[in-house]
Amino acid sequence: MSQVTRRFDFEVDAVAGDARTGTLRIGSQELATPNLFPVLNFYGGGTERSVFGGGIHRTIKEFMIGADRIGGGDYSEYFDCTMTSVASLTDYNITHERYQSYLDTPIKERELFEPYNGTLFVDSGGFKFLDGGDIDGSDFEVDIDQEKIYEIQKKMGADIILNLDHPIAPDDSHEQRMEKAEKTALNIAEFLDLSSDFDGARYLTLHGYNYSMMDAFLEKITSIVDTREIHEAFDGVALGSLVPKKDNRELLIQAVTDCQEVLQDWGFDDMPLHVLGISSRAVPLLAALGVDSFDASSYLHNAINGKYYKSMMESVPISEVSFENCDCPVCSSELHRQRMRGDAEYQKDIYGAVAVHNLIIQKQELATIRDRIRAEGTAPLREYIESTVARDKQTRQVAHKVVNQSLGGYFQ
Ligand SMILES: [Zn+2]
Repeated sequence: MSQVTRRFDFEVDAVAGDARTGTLRIGSQELATPNLFPVLNFYGGGTERSVFGGGIHRTIKEFMIGADRIGGGDYSEYFDCTMTSVASLTDYNITHERYQSYLDTPIKERELFEPYNGTLFVDSGGFKFLDGGDIDGSDFEVDIDQEKIYEIQKKMGADIILNLDHPIAPDDSHEQRMEKAEKTALNIAEFLDLSSDFDGARYLTLHGYNYSMMDAFLEKITSIVDTREIHEAFDGVALGSLVPKKDNRELLIQAVTDCQEVLQDWGFDDMPLHVLGISSRAVPLLAALGVDSFDASSYLHNAINGKYYKSMMESVPISEVSFENCDCPVCSSELHRQRMRGDAEYQKDIYGAVAVHNLIIQKQELATIRDRIRAEGTAPLREYIESTVARDKQTRQVAHKVVNQSLGGYFQ
């Protein structure tokens, strides 16, 4: 195997129970962990003049680059990382010509996106291409396979990439899951071959809801690609297939706990762990369990539903908000307060501002979580969970379980 100098490094700076805080380094970029990658479509059907379009995504991108249309300002610290999907290219019925022009320059090399310098995670889109049924890339005349996906990820200028996976569904039979694992394994072999000179980070997708499913998945994968090669070639692990279950906190906690055990047993536990497509309300618990990164679109979907975050756990209807209690740059601006009150020409300007406020709340709470992990002992993080997740009736029990299991319990 040829030796490639990776520009990727992951370092843990402090731990509190199972929770850890550290730094992901990709080239000259540094990303503090645990961290949340907000889902964002860089290409939403439009042209450069409309920041490449995408409705509410357009307004969020205008914040990201501090565009005049949103009154300028520097929001870059809240976009220290973003998650986008190859599959987002199929959401907007773009022509083949448009598709090609989207891919002719890496995202961060475009002048328009110049203020954006965050870590860019580009998902393989397996969830949509392979299990969405009707979406196969045919609307812009591209046959989707592992080779094509990797080419798109590279052209977008990704810092972190995933192999093309075949996510499992809750009602799959054992045989179906094994077939999907085999297809994913074949993709992994091809992916490693194709991307051997990729200088960002490569994450291995892992699927399953519990220990035995994930263990069986890895058995299947390693029957096709050598365990040592997987360990040497991959920089991180991404736990997938949880999207249909993302509101079932009990199951999410079980899956992540089992995943950590599986990774330990397979000797993969020194790699950073990303959990794909979660509800952002799960963030404090997943961080307590030792997850290093997550991606979520809930900041945006909740905004579209008129929900304004008071905290990571609590949202209120936008019509009831006075904006005085939030000192974030969105709520501090008269222009955006007006827009959030409904005084805007386009819906996307109302909800885009709410979405960016929601994102800022999440980012601020993650900074608090990192501080609490860095503080002495497990008590500070325990108190954080006690005053957030455990206050919520529906998540109280699962919060207590996480505290007992990962943070040494209440009585120590
Ligand atoms: Zn705010």
